[in-house]
Amino acid sequence: MTPSRNQSALVLFSGGQDSSVCLAWALARYDRVETVGFDYGQRHAVEMEARQHVRQAILSAFPDWAGRLGPDHLIDLTGFGAIAETAMTSERSFEITEKGLPSTFVPGRNLVFLTYGAALADRRGLRDLVGGMCETDFSGYPDCRRDTIEALERALNLGMAQDFRIQTPLMALTKAETWALAQDLGGAPLVDLICEESHTCYRGDRDRRHDWGYGCGACPACELRANGWTSWVAAGRPGLAP
Ligand code: ZN
Repeated sequence: MTPSRNQSALVLFSGGQDSSVCLAWALARYDRVETVGFDYGQRHAVEMEARQHVRQAILSAFPDWAGRLGPDHLIDLTGFGAIAETAMTSERSFEITEKGLPSTFVPGRNLVFLTYGAALADRRGLRDLVGGMCETDFSGYPDCRRDTIEALERALNLGMAQDFRIQTPLMALTKAETWALAQDLGGAPLVDLICEESHTCYRGDRDRRHDWGYGCGACPACELRANGWTSWVAAGRPGLAP
């Protein structure tokens, strides 16, 4: 039996910790899940490899989910990356810009990702778009805020005559709570898988292994991931559920 469109989702999947948890969240909920990644000229092919490693590890470790995981899609957005040239896509250093935003901010990145994602979801007959946007840990990214996402959902549904729902399961969670959600969804095997296979470090460092995974340990992305891990472990590795 073909699963209904209402039970289908497209996960915006970068291979990082957040989107890996989102993928597990979707696999626990929907009958049919596909993934999409965006190549906008990131400095590190590491992220693109991590995407495939996380998918493969989930297929091996969670046979119940494996049957729900459909194809992966990769969309070339290098033209957008060229416009948005920042620390993520060029050799500019990490700093706070005059607008108070980190230099890693690619203007409107999530608006572009979700718009391309919605067009793909339309073609693939998928209804929900799942993304790891989060407004809790201050990151200074205005395109991650709930207001922005709600406005975009409305614009996409008007502009594409659709009934998409943008799901952001991490929106209200701290980084420690994101580990707790992984614990709820797949227990220690999922937490271990995300530590080992997902990649967050802006510098693409896969040489140094910490308790929380690989990374330089010093860039803002590593700091967020490490701090979240440390407070989650200090709390006794709880789940989210009370
Ligand atoms: Zn790092």
